[in-house]
Amino acid sequence: MRFLKAFSVLILIIMLVGCSNENEVNTSKTTSTTTVNDTIPASKEFFAMDTYMEVDAYGDNGEKAVAKAEKEVNKLDSILSTGKSTSEISKLNKNKKQVVSADTMSLIKESVKISKATNSAFNPTIYPLMELWGFTTKNYYVPKDNEIKPLLNHMDIDNIKIDESKNEVSFKDSNMKIDLGAIAKGYTSSKIIDIFKENNIKSGMVTLGGNVQVLGKKPDGSLWKVGIQNPIGEDEYLGVLRTSDKAVITSGGYERNFTKNGKTYHHILDPSNGYPANNGLTSVTIVSSDGTLADALSTSLFVMGKDKAIDFYKKSNYNFDFILYSSDNKLIISDGIEDIFSSDLDIKVVNK
Ligand code: ADP
Ligand code: MG
Repeated sequence: MRFLKAFSVLILIIMLVGCSNENEVNTSKTTSTTTVNDTIPASKEFFAMDTYMEVDAYGDNGEKAVAKAEKEVNKLDSILSTGKSTSEISKLNKNKKQVVSADTMSLIKESVKISKATNSAFNPTIYPLMELWGFTTKNYYVPKDNEIKPLLNHMDIDNIKIDESKNEVSFKDSNMKIDLGAIAKGYTSSKIIDIFKENNIKSGMVTLGGNVQVLGKKPDGSLWKVGIQNPIGEDEYLGVLRTSDKAVITSGGYERNFTKNGKTYHHILDPSNGYPANNGLTSVTIVSSDGTLADALSTSLFVMGKDKAIDFYKKSNYNFDFILYSSDNKLIISDGIEDIFSSDLDIKVVNK
């Protein structure tokens, strides 16, 4: 079921590889679609990190690069997943102190930085709340206020202690647990693009669930076309982005949720109150050359809501663009992608 859902997301946010007609949107998921140059990528599809993934690399070293990419994904999954009791993150959550790999260290450091930069809209210490709501076991539960409140007291990011000389991370608060689910997939797609580059690949793409990262341009020299899923209209796009060398990462409450007594509860929680974020946005797409940043910010801006997200963009030194889809079905995008994003919907552009 989860697989099917992830699969359908993939079809919707698919790279539009072989369109000879500029206005045509190709929703086929076939990766061996013939391009203008008849170039066929080396391609691999697999299931990891709880989602459906696909890596495509064009050029001579393609097979080698996609094999290495799959290995890298499995490695990162095994050290970062909260669902695996042997992962570094699970051991850290259990023992409150853990020697970690360079990948985990770098992700935790980045998470702390982004948490501070977003005034805690992004907060990896959310894990005890994810457990309380049942998102970690799928035994979903709507907690009472007095069950949520005590957990909010154990989410101070400053209680994460990092000792780089020992490669060690520890928690000053024994009730603290972390979850890198909002940033790990973006980090992973960035690492895959690095692997592609190391193997002299000039053109490639990575799809991890709804997240896409592209390397270079398409082999025929044209820009990649990334369809942004419309969360409410299945099989529809909010619009299409023409781009190169970018991560395009979307967060939305529609991706993982449950319904109880007619009310739907989703998996992106607002750290300020412990409830699913409900701040006027249906989805947030971030476009950036930094996949890790794009993933963390897609979650952050979704939590912030429209006004704070726009404000954050204007003031932030981070290099990114956004596509916000509001609960009242309006599209708001940042000026950096004005010329490369097209949609049938009205678009409001926000200047930096
Ligand atoms: P997805 O992983 O479904 O593509 P996100 O990147 O937005 O979507 O990440 C959502 C995941 O991040 C949740 O499943 C949970 O593990 C974690 N999470 C939820 N709320 C927050 C938050 N406010 N800050 C950081 N991580 C969060
Ligand atoms: Mg995210």
